[in-house]
Amino acid sequence: MIHSINPSTGDTLASFDEHTPDAIEQALAQAVQAQRDWAKRPIPERVQLLTKAAEVLRAKKADYAALITAEMGKPIVEAEAEIEKCAWNCDFYAEKAEEFLAPEIVVSNAAESSVVFDPLGVVLAIMPWNYPFWQLFRFLAPALAAGNGAVLKHASNVPQCALAIEDVLREAGAPDGLFRTLLIGPSAVEAVIADPRIAAVTLTGSTEVGSLVASQAGRQLKKQVLELGGSDPFIVLADADVKEAAAVATRARFLNVGQSCIAAKRFIVEESVADEFVAALCARVEALVVDDPMNRESNIGPMARANLRDDLKSQIERSIGAGAELRLGGKPLDRPGFYYAPTVLDRVTPDMAAFAEETFGPAAAVIRVRDAEEAITLANATEFGLGAALWTRDIDRARQLARRIEAGAVFINGMVASDPRLPFGGIKKSGYGRELGEFGIREFTNIKTVWIG
Ligand code: NDP
Repeated sequence: MIHSINPSTGDTLASFDEHTPDAIEQALAQAVQAQRDWAKRPIPERVQLLTKAAEVLRAKKADYAALITAEMGKPIVEAEAEIEKCAWNCDFYAEKAEEFLAPEIVVSNAAESSVVFDPLGVVLAIMPWNYPFWQLFRFLAPALAAGNGAVLKHASNVPQCALAIEDVLREAGAPDGLFRTLLIGPSAVEAVIADPRIAAVTLTGSTEVGSLVASQAGRQLKKQVLELGGSDPFIVLADADVKEAAAVATRARFLNVGQSCIAAKRFIVEESVADEFVAALCARVEALVVDDPMNRESNIGPMARANLRDDLKSQIERSIGAGAELRLGGKPLDRPGFYYAPTVLDRVTPDMAAFAEETFGPAAAVIRVRDAEEAITLANATEFGLGAALWTRDIDRARQLARRIEAGAVFINGMVASDPRLPFGGIKKSGYGRELGEFGIREFTNIKTVWIG
């Protein structure tokens, strides 16, 4: 059984039988048939589905947002913003897909040679609970526009969202079977990856599962895009606007109750401004409203699952045990559900859990450094390489430093965020491949050379 549990109360909302092998077989057979027909349609026809999907998402925003909040606990205002962003992404690719996938003429010794972008087939999407609609639509909109089909194995704690996404596509008029949700647990995934009807795999989730899925897909020589964990640095240099940096730092860390791969996690601050930064950060964090996520004033709801809250609790306790200074929070809240108090740790060092491990919850770790050189060294002293933020008033210097940061994105005087127009993804153990933008839509295409003598 797959259970939907409200993390704010611990109550079970609904339970679902897992799909049987027969149901999976039927879904894959339908998907591959639907995709073959879909691939033959011209792009302007395909993208009408995205335009319709955006309309459905906007029309039912309140329902879908309430479902997200009920199943994984993010504040309702943020859940609404998530649905809006999905609609934006659909609209973006509806407008740009034809341009991004237009054949490219290349000069060679042929009479004519060109590169065309053909679909790969049916893609298996293994997705996480933290942005249960966005993570999927980020992949799905460009994948469908490019002529692919998709089957979704969503995280087991968001089955209602997974089924609702299927409804969005159905209501938008998707051909039968082109997109299907499989309600299955992790143990059923390997056989789906190995199925010859699956052409490629995309996964957003932990590095551990990424490595496992990559090896299974690799054995089948199937293309993968992996968007895994992150331990993003947020560097504040001595010449930064420290107050503004602290305000943005609070959002960058505590949005989505800290459960984001691109959340700023390690605040690396030059010693000369560290006291000022920590004071401003603590003032902002203390002002966050911790309450039931259905309250529109709430900034911090529960974490999504009890085990995720327990993992964070252990990381904070181990860091304090190793000498980190607790400035705020540092414990689960004494109320039903999986709440953890917004936490700030100061004087964190690289040997501590809050630095060395990904902290996936409402906890900021401040690391004090001598200068910019040490800041860059420590920013890179992680197995991850997803995003990074750099705060300084010296933009020329920032441009140079940005090139030395090992990450898929560097945001200068801003907060790392995904944007349909810009490529998104990581290096090192944060994964490989790119989503969004022009690079993202090409990931699940056959980049085909056509040579005419
Ligand atoms: P997981 O990596 O376990 O889950 C992500 C997806 O992978 C889910 O759909 C999950 O399904 C599936 N999955 C799990 N095990 C397997 C397997 N053996 N084979 C195939 N698919 C599998 O993440 P968690 O939810 O457990 O979160 C743990 C940590 O992962 C977090 O603390 C965070 O560090 C990181 N994470 C990163 C995310 C990101 O945005 N990059 C998102 C979520 C988590 P099921 O739910 O059924 O197990």
